[in-house]
Amino acid sequence: MAAEKTPSLEELLSGYDTDNLVIATVCSHSSLQIFHGARKEGFKTLGIAIGDRIKFYEGFPLGKPDEFFVVDNYKDIPKYADELREKNVVIIPHGSFVEYLGAEEFMKLEIPTFGNRNVLIWESDRKKEREWLEGAGLTMPEQIDDPRDIDKPVIVKYHGAKGGKGFFIAKTYEEFEKLIDWSKPFTIQEFVMGTRYYLHYFYSPIRDDGYKLKQGSLQLLSMDRRDETTIDELQRIGSISELEEIGIHPTFVVTGNIPIVMRESLLPEVFKMGENVVEKSLELFGGVIGPFCLETVITEDLKFKVFEISARIVAGTNPYISGSPYSDLIEPELSTGRRIAQEIRYAQKNDLLHEILS
Ligand code: AMP
Repeated sequence: MAAEKTPSLEELLSGYDTDNLVIATVCSHSSLQIFHGARKEGFKTLGIAIGDRIKFYEGFPLGKPDEFFVVDNYKDIPKYADELREKNVVIIPHGSFVEYLGAEEFMKLEIPTFGNRNVLIWESDRKKEREWLEGAGLTMPEQIDDPRDIDKPVIVKYHGAKGGKGFFIAKTYEEFEKLIDWSKPFTIQEFVMGTRYYLHYFYSPIRDDGYKLKQGSLQLLSMDRRDETTIDELQRIGSISELEEIGIHPTFVVTGNIPIVMRESLLPEVFKMGENVVEKSLELFGGVIGPFCLETVITEDLKFKVFEISARIVAGTNPYISGSPYSDLIEPELSTGRRIAQEIRYAQKNDLLHEILS
């Protein structure tokens, strides 16, 4: 994944009618929210879809894109870059967009894209991610390099596994050995005991109202907790240890998202963590621009441990299409999708698109 392969934004935007930008994304993940938010800010919208994905949008007229761009396979999107640029399209990347296209193709995609694509280099490599987050002063779960050192519950994560698929918990080396697939690269992390909070921020390098950073400003738009099958409801039929004895192991596959608010006394720390992550990102790669999510566990002594960052809109913002208890204190009915559209509108009006697109 070489940064120099990314085409220059100037080239991509040449020929654009920036007064008539079209907000586009792949029809999945958080697309209803993205289209709905863009429409509220007066943009035309375009949904890139595989044929059978279209019909359900009829059920949600306010989240339906103005136009569909049907492809046989999402991997074909780069082939249509010229055609999409002719339509003045700005891509809003989400997790499924990057996954369907593949990280390398996404980096090279010749269409102006919201956010800083270089963040992928720091986010998709677990070592670099740790360098970024620990460099920002955040506490991450301890990493165990030698499985023989397992002396407490750990979670084993295969690299590149999507949505926690294939992850497993082990409490001893013997348990680990029984379950591990040695053919795949993996990381062993301390299993942090506590409550999970997924914090949804928005960083603007071009606004300086609200919670100010050295450059730009930071918002906390919402938080959620993921619903993960089977771990989250396994206790309905027995304890995890009992089930493991008969060969049933929990899985961590995300099926939905639950809205949540946090005790207010923790909010200063939430802002401080977001601030440090942004400041460090500016130093390392030009900044994490737009929405990002810190995935955390709060321990019983009220300390945050951050196990992951997602550097774009996450599906955990979907419970808040009409605003969250936090975004309501910024502006009524402000979803993350709408906030993205506002940022593009502000940049377009003030000739700052180069600051927020890549
Ligand atoms: P991830 O793919 O890293 O987001 O992890 C998938 C899921 O595994 C998370 O949503 C959590 O439920 C759980 N998880 C990941 N890392 C940890 C950890 N270090 N301690 C406890 N639970 C974790």
